[in-house]
Amino acid sequence: MRKTPFVTKEQVAEIVKKYPTPFHIYDEKGIRQNAEAVKKAFSWNEGFCEYFAVKANPNPYLIRILNEYGFGTDCSSMTELMISKALDLPGEKIMFSSNETPAAEYTYAKEIGAIINLDDITHIEFCEEACGGQLPKTMSCRYNPGGVFQMSNGIMDNPGDAKYGMTKPQLKEAFTIMHQKGVEEFGIHAFLASNTVTNEYYPKLARELFELAVEVARDTGVHIGFINLSGGVGIPYRPDQEPNDIQVIGDGVHKAFDEVLVPAGMGDIKIFAEMGRFMMGPYGALVTTAIHEKHTYKEYIGVDACAVNLMRPAMYGAYHHVTVLGKEEVEPTETYDVVGSLCENNDKFAIDRKLPKIEMGDYLVIHDTGAHGYSMGYSYNGKLKSAELLLKEDGSVQLIRRKEEPKDYFATLDVTEFASKLGL
Ligand SMILES: *Cc1c(COP(=O)(O)O)cnc(C)c1O
Repeated sequence: MRKTPFVTKEQVAEIVKKYPTPFHIYDEKGIRQNAEAVKKAFSWNEGFCEYFAVKANPNPYLIRILNEYGFGTDCSSMTELMISKALDLPGEKIMFSSNETPAAEYTYAKEIGAIINLDDITHIEFCEEACGGQLPKTMSCRYNPGGVFQMSNGIMDNPGDAKYGMTKPQLKEAFTIMHQKGVEEFGIHAFLASNTVTNEYYPKLARELFELAVEVARDTGVHIGFINLSGGVGIPYRPDQEPNDIQVIGDGVHKAFDEVLVPAGMGDIKIFAEMGRFMMGPYGALVTTAIHEKHTYKEYIGVDACAVNLMRPAMYGAYHHVTVLGKEEVEPTETYDVVGSLCENNDKFAIDRKLPKIEMGDYLVIHDTGAHGYSMGYSYNGKLKSAELLLKEDGSVQLIRRKEEPKDYFATLDVTEFASKLGL
């Protein structure tokens, strides 16, 4: 499918007068339409809740849009929990799915009433102590079946190699211990494959977890209140990929629910999700300007963004589609490496990419940066983070995070010794 940016050259030319490139921009309309579709696809399950994975995009203005659809947050650190608190979310709308968790984070999670999802059986006592000697009434455990996760089109991922979750015998033992310690309602969580661009993943995972829930309830006698399908629902980064259909995914989970849980008398189970990428990925773009061209052994286009703004290509060789604004209809006659300014040779947004001829000053849209884009950024080479903008439904643009200034970079040093010399 052809990938079309949600902003035009004319819009960007207007925006840069106030907010120069590079910046991430988000599409409110797309976020809302998708959130509506997610809600509808799981409306058959009365207790359904999507806990948006904050790590994918921690901008509270964007999370607040999702909250309007009844969605909560999935957190993995102190500051992510604090974002949820700052958004006035009630505890039951905050999931805390962390691993290798410091005690203070469990303490804070309990204080704000978040649902704690334990990564390992050995964390029970640690968590209990951090929670002032009493575990919360509702808790969850993360399951890892080991081996590989297989679907009809082959191996999707390798849970046996992942540091997360506990084995089935450990999960049962953990539930029994936690039950004895006063936990009343239990959840089962698993995240077995990442960025799955197939409608099969959630239904297959759900069936596996539903069967596990029936077995665990039978063997331990605890009440399973929810099953958390976590993240992993993917997006088509490449134009030749078929997007997931969330309605088909929801229907597939519904079918497994009716076939496994309902006959077992467990039809009251709530379905939870912790999607990050699917909720936000396609509705963000990194807009950057071509500022240099270089002709050596290859043709390079240097842009004013770099891996600090979007790390996925450098980190995993991830594909992000690139559109040259205003040249959507122009033949891609050139082969470019589109590169940033870091002193690291992996700072390449695209390698050997077929694109129309690029002139200096052209705006490039790097697609699908709404999830794991800005949030993964770092500050290598003293590069500062960009602004984040929201393209609202009425076409206006709101600054939802200003760009970093040098004074932010110096803020964690001794101000009088260094920053003051620079007049910051
Ligand atoms: C990363 C993560 C998610 C979100 O994953 P996506 O692939 O972005 O949907 C959800 N839950 C947990 C525990 C995670 O670590």
